[in-house]
Amino acid sequence: MKGILNFTNEQLISQFNCLKLAKFRSQQVIDWIYSKGVTSFLQMTSFNGQMQGLLSNNYYIYRPQIATISKSTDGSIKFLLKLDDGLTIETVFIPEGHRNTICVSTQVGCAVGCKFCNTGYNGFKRNLKAEEIIGQVLAIKDYVNSWNDKTKRISNVVFMGMGEPLYNWDNVNIALQNLKLGGEIQGLSSKRITLSTSGIIPVLEKIIPTLECNLAISLHAPNAITRSSIMPINDLYNIENLLPVCRIYNKLHPNKIITFEYLLLKGVNDDRVMAKQLIKLLHGIKCKVNLIQFNSWEGDSYVGCDEYTMQNFRKILVSSGINATIRHSKGQDIMAACGQLQSSN
Ligand code: SF4
Repeated sequence: MKGILNFTNEQLISQFNCLKLAKFRSQQVIDWIYSKGVTSFLQMTSFNGQMQGLLSNNYYIYRPQIATISKSTDGSIKFLLKLDDGLTIETVFIPEGHRNTICVSTQVGCAVGCKFCNTGYNGFKRNLKAEEIIGQVLAIKDYVNSWNDKTKRISNVVFMGMGEPLYNWDNVNIALQNLKLGGEIQGLSSKRITLSTSGIIPVLEKIIPTLECNLAISLHAPNAITRSSIMPINDLYNIENLLPVCRIYNKLHPNKIITFEYLLLKGVNDDRVMAKQLIKLLHGIKCKVNLIQFNSWEGDSYVGCDEYTMQNFRKILVSSGINATIRHSKGQDIMAACGQLQSSN
């Protein structure tokens, strides 16, 4: 049995070709799965029993199991999802005005080991399959009744949950393609999908020429020493080599901007000198900076900076012409905010 969500549209056509099914059948199946949200081939009522049987004997439509649900006072919902091997991941649904965003995980745990991050602190278990990434979105759509309730339609997906997406690029790439399936109503345009990375330079260089979705870089420091102290990945993929890649991205995608994520940590990266260094570093790059409040978790060794310091840091960036905003993460009371996710195993 094969997981049908693991196949892109093109791959499904060739799969169906082997089963002697006409090309248009793949589009019909895709519509049932991605526009109507069915979880069984028997629900595909436009097919006769023979066709339903053929599909059921060869494929399954994956959904992770929702193990627990935590609801925040701000409306966001965190899902602990159980995978077939018993490992768990977390996914967050974030409603905000007209936007409904899902933050997906791409790995069980994470090997990057950013020191401010609960996921990194708990280590790496394995990559998620494409169906386990897509399945997070579909399972949450089932739960919030996104298929039928217009107010619950998913408007954005961000790859900012557990894991480093570029360390699982092949499966993330399939997920990026398949999340666009589902037509105008259920499908997502690339403009509504954001891929966030700590900056795995060789993979970035390979993918940016054809990357259609938005790109966010977890920067978190304006110089190599400070970045290495909180993000050990900087020793491998240094900020000094990362920024030229961002400039190439700008050249290849003149109509897009890069988002730089910058977590403000008290006494680490939040003073005037750091702000000035950041301005210099980002000079000439078409970007915006998201200043993020630190979200505490058990075992952390950092303190977030106060609102006054955050505002001041922002003002310095803005006065130099950088588009900078302060992002107050949602779901802090349920440990669903940036850097707080973890698996229970
Ligand atoms: S911040 Fe992202 S890349 Fe860093 S350890 Fe956490 S999940 Fe991994």
